[in-house]
Amino acid sequence: MDDMQPVRVLIVEDSENDALLLVDFLRGGGLAPEWRRVQSRAELAAELEARWDLVLCDYTMPGFDGLQALQVVQERDPDLPLIFVSGTIGEANAVEAMRRGARDYVLKDNLTRLLPALRRELDEAHSRREQRRLEAAAAAVERERARLAAVLEATPDLVAIADPDGCLSFINGAGRRLLGLGQAELDGRCLRDLFSERVAELLLGEAFPAACRDGYWFGEMALPAADGSGEIPLSKLVMAHRDGEGKTDYLSVVARDISERKKFEAELQHQATHDRLTGLPNRFLLVDRMESELAHVRRRGGFAAVLFFDLDNFKRINDSLGHAVGDTVLRQVATRLQSCLRPTDTVARHGGDEFTVAVSELQRVEDVLVVLRKVRTGFEVPVIAGSQEVFVTFSIGIAVFPHDGVGVETLLRNADTAMYRAKTAGRDQYRFYAPDMNDRGHELLAMEAELRRAVERQEFELFYQPQVELESGRVRALEALIRWRHPRRGLVPPGDFLPLLEDTGLIVPVGDWVLRRACADLRVWRRTWPDLLRVSVNVSVAQFGDPELAARVGAALVAEQVPAGGLELEITENLMMRDPQATGEMLQRLHDLGVRVAVDDFGIGYSSLAYLKHLPLDVLKIDRTFVSDLPRDADDAVIVEAAISLGHKLGLGVVAEGVETEEQYRFLRGHGCDLAQGYFCCPPLPTAEVDAFLAKGR
Ligand code: C2E
Ligand code: MG
Ligand code: MG
Repeated sequence: MDDMQPVRVLIVEDSENDALLLVDFLRGGGLAPEWRRVQSRAELAAELEARWDLVLCDYTMPGFDGLQALQVVQERDPDLPLIFVSGTIGEANAVEAMRRGARDYVLKDNLTRLLPALRRELDEAHSRREQRRLEAAAAAVERERARLAAVLEATPDLVAIADPDGCLSFINGAGRRLLGLGQAELDGRCLRDLFSERVAELLLGEAFPAACRDGYWFGEMALPAADGSGEIPLSKLVMAHRDGEGKTDYLSVVARDISERKKFEAELQHQATHDRLTGLPNRFLLVDRMESELAHVRRRGGFAAVLFFDLDNFKRINDSLGHAVGDTVLRQVATRLQSCLRPTDTVARHGGDEFTVAVSELQRVEDVLVVLRKVRTGFEVPVIAGSQEVFVTFSIGIAVFPHDGVGVETLLRNADTAMYRAKTAGRDQYRFYAPDMNDRGHELLAMEAELRRAVERQEFELFYQPQVELESGRVRALEALIRWRHPRRGLVPPGDFLPLLEDTGLIVPVGDWVLRRACADLRVWRRTWPDLLRVSVNVSVAQFGDPELAARVGAALVAEQVPAGGLELEITENLMMRDPQATGEMLQRLHDLGVRVAVDDFGIGYSSLAYLKHLPLDVLKIDRTFVSDLPRDADDAVIVEAAISLGHKLGLGVVAEGVETEEQYRFLRGHGCDLAQGYFCCPPLPTAEVDAFLAKGR
């Protein structure tokens, strides 16, 4: 019994006997039927609620017929096989029954075909069911896949699947939009073909190999926006999905546009490091920037300074005009302070009415006075707050790195202390932390004011120093040397005021004056002294950097009616090397005018001979440091000799500066130097004495 095949058979039959016969027959055929007999539509329908393997159906029954039973079965379960087992059926009926879906028919008096037919039907039904099950499962999978795809398509993050070489097999809508890709472009395309090398490198470069190696890569990156509008910050996760052997089968990429977060972070960062009222850096950021500035100065040399600015009388402004006006004043002060300074300087609000300025890259400590000067000039115009004009002055404390402290905190504290000293002295005052700096600072600022007045009052005059032709002893040229006749201090040498003229830009008008004065003087002397060929004028950094220089020189020549060849301009070697390109251009313009150009202080600078060779020059002036120990110092003798021969080889005239002794004079003459200038021949002379000297020289 155990190996009998169980089968659930529903028998539609009006005769209990026939049904039993059928069951017996099935048993005899090795089956273990579990069966039920029904004989009406209602019974059949009710029984079909259960699961059956097979229906065996009589064809003709009283009150119910086989075709009706077939219909009921088909409606319930089209896969449930139905075989007619009937006394008689007739060919036409049999054909009709098969057409309607009966699986087979067997005659009651010859059941031999029943067993194979039944087995066949059970098998077929089984595979039909299996097929349907598979189809249903596939449909379910497909539905699930479609749902997942819809979810991925709808997610706002980029989701993509690619192979380790970066060939895409999936990318969602957000991804296509982010990368600026259309739908069509994608099937299996590789990122390296879709994008520029740079972008492909950004997308794949570090992340893909790392993910293949470590299983995943997570990080942030900036992707050029598809529409060209800047960059999009992304956070990106690349995960490697391995096959059974641990080889990377494919990679999934999830990336999120984090612009908003970045913006928010930047805002937070800004809020944490800036003052709400003025938008200036706060103390925190100031300290931070100073740290790095000081590190820089430590490496590169030079100075840095912190200036503490405290508004004078701010309390009175606040009390009398109200806090709103006070706030406006502070905001305006902030803006104006910033506009007075270089972008590299840091202006910070320290709190209340205190501002801090950090300046670095100072060549000299005095350069900090430039900042004071700029701020003073900047605040000569009142601040407008509502309908009020407020004149702003500050009490300023200055601490200089490294004199007044090597750490940020010390410098700030000392600048603060210095500021209190300035406050005690009254409004609109400044104090250095180191007292000696105050004297120097005051002196410089006082001198600056005096210099401005000197320009107005024309306190400058020219001295002239003759250049003597060594061979003939004749005076060939005069170098114009500026002097300042100070009402109290007397005659001030150029070394004491030229740097200040440079810093303040006053050198440009003063330099113009020197040019014109020298040209005018030359014109007068030339009438009497035809041996005198020219006058030589020194040009400073600021003048040489002025693109108008050639035009100014041209204008002076025309105005004073001096031929261009009568004027020589002296430019120091170092000045020429500052900006070789611009120097070349400016010299060419001067050369085109016809004026001569001399390299002043030659030998102490760093010019390359190869470079000098290409410039349109006329004269080398050997610096006096090489001349002073002639002819005893053998090194200097060699240098001077070499300079003379070099000058001549380059087709230049050679002048020796600072000739103080007869020995030097002879040495130079013996080595073919063209002109000598120095106390031995003549010191610089006041204009009024030049005539007398020239007369004597003859
Ligand atoms: P520099 O062009 O090299 O001028 C020569 C300087 O050497 C002059 O100094 C002169 O008085 C001095 N000197 C002349 N002979 C001797 C000597 O035998 N021994 C020694 N020890 N010194 C001698 P000074 O007049 O004080 O001028 C200094 C510098 O100031 C000049 O050096 C020049 O670079 C600059 N300078 C003078 N006048 C002007 C000017 O009008 N404009 C510009 N931009 N710079 C000027
Ligand atoms: Mg000179
Ligand atoms: Mg010189």
